[in-house]
Amino acid sequence: STKSEGVTNEETTTDKPSRPLVDVETSKRYLKSDSYNKTYLGSLVWQPYRRNHRGHLPPRKIRRSCYIGGKLATGNPCPICRDQYLVLHPENVDLLKQFVSPYTGKVLSNHVTNLCQIQHKKLLVSIEQAWDSGNLAKAVPFKEYNYEDYYPELRKKKSFES
Ligand SMILES: [Zn+2]
Repeated sequence: STKSEGVTNEETTTDKPSRPLVDVETSKRYLKSDSYNKTYLGSLVWQPYRRNHRGHLPPRKIRRSCYIGGKLATGNPCPICRDQYLVLHPENVDLLKQFVSPYTGKVLSNHVTNLCQIQHKKLLVSIEQAWDSGNLAKAVPFKEYNYEDYYPELRKKKSFES
């Protein structure tokens, strides 16, 4: 193979490294590992984060980045920044699909996932590329049809009955 494993993705080579560099292949293996399962216990990577705020409203203010000048700038980093083995990359499908709503087929808002702006932007780009390349299947949103919207006479009939 001409591709050498361990080469980091473009973003990390053009940007100042903001955390220890983990390549996408390592991240993909991590998502299938025991240590991943022990950490997240079947939850999505962004879900345990909310446990910190049980009984309170989760913080609404979204920070730009969890890192400043290459150093972790908060004791409460976002779900991607806090785990260096979670690498947002178009080929890291097991990770990306955790951020797509099964109901709408759209990328979840970072008001839900608590990703910082930098990681959320990276997520959007990665998912877009994964969809384009077909690595990630574009979910067909499940839609509940309300037949009364299409057949007003059903609505009328119902109101007479009640
Ligand atoms: Zn972050």
